[in-house]
Amino acid sequence: MKVAVSACLLGDDCKYNGGNNFSEKVAEFVKGQEVIPICPEVMGGLSTPREPSEIVNGIVKHRDGSSVDAEFRKGARLALKKVIDSGAELVILQSRSPSCGASSIYDGTFSGTLIQGQGVFAKLLTENNIKVLDVSEL
Ligand code: SF4
Repeated sequence: MKVAVSACLLGDDCKYNGGNNFSEKVAEFVKGQEVIPICPEVMGGLSTPREPSEIVNGIVKHRDGSSVDAEFRKGARLALKKVIDSGAELVILQSRSPSCGASSIYDGTFSGTLIQGQGVFAKLLTENNIKVLDVSEL
């Protein structure tokens, strides 16, 4: 099976703070599968490290209110194309991210409060009927 995975879960240092979210569970799950690493934020042209972002009333913003919505949406579109072109049947996504969060995201107040919802990339995948799995569900 071909599986696309949030690149930070595979150990790529593409997280906003320059680190990663390496997951043993993911490494175990994808053993023997063809893996396609994807970071929509990097694909959208954002640098690493970068300021943390949240979705504020539907627009992706930094804490200071500046918009990074265009970069997030461009990255999500490019990442969607990469998933489709690769033929991946499943996308495993990092939790809570304004791009990759598949079931919950921060509420846009930068206070650490989670709400039900999806990040920009996860939403686009879902709208295109591509199966997504939040890493916490593995
Ligand atoms: S955009 Fe997704 S893959 Fe990239 S660092 Fe954030 S959670 Fe990981």
